Amino acid sequence: MTTTTSAGRTAVAPAAPSPGAAVALRPVPLGAARIAGGFWAERQEANRRQAIRTGYEKLETAGNLQNFRIAAGTATGEPRGPIFMDSDVYKWLEAAAWEYAREPDEEVLGWIRAVTEVVAAAQADDGYLDSVQQVRGQGARYTDLPWSHEHYCAGHLFQAAVATSRGTGDTGLLDVAVKLADHLVATFGEGRTVDVDGHPVVEMGLVELYRETGTQAYLDLARWFVDARGHGIVEGHGKAPTYFSDRVPVREQTTVEGHSVRAVYLTAGAADVAAETGDAELLAALTTQWEGMLATKTYVTGGIGARWDMEQFGDHHELGPDRAYAETCAAIGSVQWTWRMLLATGEARYADLVERTLYNAFLPGVSLAGAEYFYVNALQLRHGAHPDEERSVANGRRPWFDCACCPPNIMRTLASLDAYLATSSGAGVQLHQFATGTVRADVAGGVGFDVTTDYPWDGTVRLEVTAPGTQEWELAVRVPAWAEGATATVAGSPVPVSAGEYLRVARRWAAGDVLELVLPMPVRVVEADPRVDAVRGAVVVERGPLVYCVEQPDLPADLPADDVRVRVAELRTAAAEHRPDLLGGVTVLRLPVRRAAGAATGPLYRPAGDEPPVASTGAAEPVDAVPYYAWANRELGAMRVWLPRA
Ligand SMILES: [Zn+2]
Repeated sequence: MTTTTSAGRTAVAPAAPSPGAAVALRPVPLGAARIAGGFWAERQEANRRQAIRTGYEKLETAGNLQNFRIAAGTATGEPRGPIFMDSDVYKWLEAAAWEYAREPDEEVLGWIRAVTEVVAAAQADDGYLDSVQQVRGQGARYTDLPWSHEHYCAGHLFQAAVATSRGTGDTGLLDVAVKLADHLVATFGEGRTVDVDGHPVVEMGLVELYRETGTQAYLDLARWFVDARGHGIVEGHGKAPTYFSDRVPVREQTTVEGHSVRAVYLTAGAADVAAETGDAELLAALTTQWEGMLATKTYVTGGIGARWDMEQFGDHHELGPDRAYAETCAAIGSVQWTWRMLLATGEARYADLVERTLYNAFLPGVSLAGAEYFYVNALQLRHGAHPDEERSVANGRRPWFDCACCPPNIMRTLASLDAYLATSSGAGVQLHQFATGTVRADVAGGVGFDVTTDYPWDGTVRLEVTAPGTQEWELAVRVPAWAEGATATVAGSPVPVSAGEYLRVARRWAAGDVLELVLPMPVRVVEADPRVDAVRGAVVVERGPLVYCVEQPDLPADLPADDVRVRVAELRTAAAEHRPDLLGGVTVLRLPVRRAAGAATGPLYRPAGDEPPVASTGAAEPVDAVPYYAWANRELGAMRVWLPRA
C-alpha cells in the first residue's frame, strides 16, 4: 500500500524509528493517521489560520529573522533577543512544514522557502550556524556551552530540516542541517572537544537527522552527548550541574530534576538513542526516571516543573497550585518523551499520560482564538493577583514573549498531532488517542478504518473498517485507566474490556465491521497523596480525559473563587451539560458548592481548635465548572483547580 501525505508524497512521521530500531510500535506513515473533525481539528484550524500566520509576522517584528540577516552580512545592527532566538525560527519552520503536509498551501510554502533562504545565507563556510553568537560572540564559538545554546539551536534546526524534507519535499534546509551536523561531528566527541550544551535537544535532532539521512555519525554523536552528561563537564565551567541535567549520568539517574524542559528533552533524546541502538540498559534507566516523574513530580494536569526559580522541577511532592510553573514547553517535552516510551514498550500507561498532558497541560497554553499563549500554567489564580512579570498568568495569555519558546512549540505540536493517534506493529494497528478521522497502516496487505467520536465530551468511539487487509490482524484500542466500566462491541457482539489496557481484537476483518468502545464519563473526584501539602484537604473534579476548574466568570459576584468549598459526595452528583455556545463548545459540570465561613474570615493566625473548623455555611448552590484548558478565555478572574473540602 502506498501512503501519501495530502501533498501527494510518501513520507515518514515525526520521530519514527528507523526500520532496524528496537521498538514495540511504529508510527504510521506521515498522513496515514488524519484528524478530520471534532475537538482537535478545531484547535488545528486555529493553529493554521492564526498561530502560524501571526508567528511568521512575529519572527520579523521580534527580530529573529533580522538576526540571521545581520549574521549573513546583508543587514547591519545588533542582534535582538535572547541568545537562542534562532530556535524560534526553527520551531516555526517545523510547524509550517508539518502543517503543509496536512494541507498544502502555496502561501505557507512560500514562507517556508523565504525563511529557509534567510537561514541558509547566515551559515558559515565550515557549517557553523548560530546567528546571535556569530555576531555577539565576534567569532568565538562554544566558549560557554552551558548557557550559549549553540547545540540547542542546532537541534531545533535538525528537527525543522527533517520536517521540511518530509513535509514539503524541499531539501534546502536539510542541506543546511547536514552541513552543521557534519561540523558538530568534526568538532565534538572523544578525542575532540569534550563538552555538552546546557540545554538538550540536539540529541533528538541528531537522531532524527540520522533517520532521515542514514548517516551513522549523527547517531553516534547523539549517543555520545547522552553518555557525556553527569561526568563533571558543567562543573568544569564553574556552574552547579543539577539545573543542566549534568549531576548524574543518564544511566544512573532515578528521577527528573533541574530545569524541566532541559530534563525531558534530554530523556526524549536518550529514548531515541536507546531505540536506535537497542540499548536496554538505557531504556530501563529512562523507565525508572519516568516512573519517578509520574509518582511525585507531575501535576494532576500532567504538567511538570513546579518552580519559578530557574524553571525547575521541585522536590518530591512539591506541587503547589498557585505558583505552579508548569511551562507549556515542559508539557510538550513530556509528551515527546512519553510518546517515545510508548513506541519502545507498547504500554498503555504512556498513552494515558500523553492524553492527560495534551488536554490539560499543553492545551491551556494557547487561547481558543489560537494566537495568544500562556508560558506558565498555574492551577490557581487568586483574587487581587497582579502580574509580577511577563510570564505570570495574571497577565492572561499574551501574543508573544521576549523569550518566545512556547508559542512556536505549541504550533509544531498541533501541526504534527495526527502522528500521535496511531501506530502499527507486526500484530496489527493500535489506536492511542481518540479523534474523528482516518487511520491507515501497512499491515496485512494494507488496512484502514474511520474513527467517529465526540470525544472528549462523549465517550463513544466508533471504528469502522474501510480496508480489511488480506489476512487476520489485531486492532488494539487504548482503554484509558480512568475509564472503569468501559464496554465494547465488535460487529455487534460484546467483547471484554479492561481499563488501563488495550482492547485487542484479532480477526479476519471485513469492510464495514464496526468496533464500538464506550467509555463512561461520570464526574470523578480526585485527591492527592497527602504529602502534596499545598493541596491537602482539597479535591479536583475530572470528567473523561479533562480536568475541570472553577472560574470567577461562572460564580456569583459575592462568591469569590477563593471561598468556594465542596463536599465530595455532593460533587459526585454534579450534572454534565454540553454548552455549544460557551468557550467554543464545552461540557460544563454543574457543581454543588458551598461558601467558606468562620475560619475563612478570621485572623491570619489564631489558636488551633481541637476539631477541624466548620468551613462552610448555608446550603449547596450550583456553579458551573469549565475544562481547565478553556480558562482565561473570557474576562480574566480568579480560578482554581483544587477545591477545598468543607
Ligand atoms: Zn517555553
